[in-house]
Amino acid sequence: MSKVLKNSPNANIDKNVLKRYMDLPICENIVQATYIWIDGTGDNVRCKDRTVEFVPQCPDELPVWNYDGSSTGQAEGSNSDTYMRPRAIYPDPIRRGNHILVMCDTYTFDGNPTETNKRKKFVETLNACKGGDDIWFGIEQEYTLLDMDGRPFGWPTNGFPAPQGPYYCGVGANKVYARDIIEAHYKACLFSGLKICGTNAEVMPSQWEYQIGPCPGVTIGDELWVSRYLLHRIAEDFGIIATLDPKPMVGSWNGAGAHTNVSTTKMRENGGIKEIEAAVAKLSKQHARHIKAYDPRGGEDNKRRLIGRLETSSINDFSSGVANRGVSIRIPRGVADEGKGYFEDRRPASNCDPYSVCEAIVYTICVEGGN
Ligand code: ADP
Ligand code: MN
Ligand code: MN
Ligand code: MN
Ligand code: MN
Repeated sequence: MSKVLKNSPNANIDKNVLKRYMDLPICENIVQATYIWIDGTGDNVRCKDRTVEFVPQCPDELPVWNYDGSSTGQAEGSNSDTYMRPRAIYPDPIRRGNHILVMCDTYTFDGNPTETNKRKKFVETLNACKGGDDIWFGIEQEYTLLDMDGRPFGWPTNGFPAPQGPYYCGVGANKVYARDIIEAHYKACLFSGLKICGTNAEVMPSQWEYQIGPCPGVTIGDELWVSRYLLHRIAEDFGIIATLDPKPMVGSWNGAGAHTNVSTTKMRENGGIKEIEAAVAKLSKQHARHIKAYDPRGGEDNKRRLIGRLETSSINDFSSGVANRGVSIRIPRGVADEGKGYFEDRRPASNCDPYSVCEAIVYTICVEGGN
């Protein structure tokens, strides 16, 4: 084992021992449910488990639960019970059987959504938009693998890898690191029924991407958050950290984004390019409002990433173009050729809340000014 992995306690636990216990037979009606929620930071997930004595078919059958919000930055210690409402359930690829993952949104003691519950507003905005549930979203989730010392996984402790160039979609032990995690995560997402549509190595070594979508309406947020939970959980098994920080390394190293691809029914129909152009025109007038919604710190995180270089536009300006990767909004070449399809908003940071990003887009292109 390498010198660095010795510092990773989880990497040194023998998973073969665990297997003895994971294989123990238990009654089929006994279900282990992992409740997952977004904590007070807006970009971290938390989870806790409970047993339910039936096999739920939909989230509404599951009990509302609570947790100590004073330990997650979501409540005061004196009034700490914070509620989780189950919103979507998925097969659990770690425990298998009838066990499930439960994506929740969160409410304070008096029934109001917590500050980081952006899901509720997204659902309201979708409802206010005619055809809202037929809007499709696809998100490209970029992330970086880190060693326990906070350096990108596989990077020399003192010094840097050779400059960017060979790593994007790379193959080979000197080009990509920890592909096992990517393979495990891909399979796990498929097992859970998530619409993971692809994956690739990114421009900076130890940076990777996977894509979720196209997903209609609010399901994009539920699926992306559960896929992130699985990423962190699987990386934990390997003793490696997966970070969604949008600029883990300063200098000539690409940052990480969450390009958000969007289409309405009309955009997908013949001649839909006109609808796409109309949407881009609306978005061009709301740049500042969107930047606020595109990372959990109102634009502060994205300031480090959107620098107008390294395949990003400047955080201060709105721009758009066909096949251009240095703009805020890109219309893919194939979409321009076919005259229909979708557009790509390249501004959201890798640690964005998809509920918040997609809400802002739907509000601007569909709700504001009537529809
Ligand atoms: P890029 O060329 O920007 O790297 P990717 O192949 O990584 O593109 O990602 C394309 C994304 O677009 C995927 O998340 C996919 O789900 C999404 N997508 C494809 N078609 C549509 C559509 N009609 N509406 C919304 N999203 C779509
Ligand atoms: Mn307790
Ligand atoms: Mn991509
Ligand atoms: Mn990418
Ligand atoms: Mn992209």
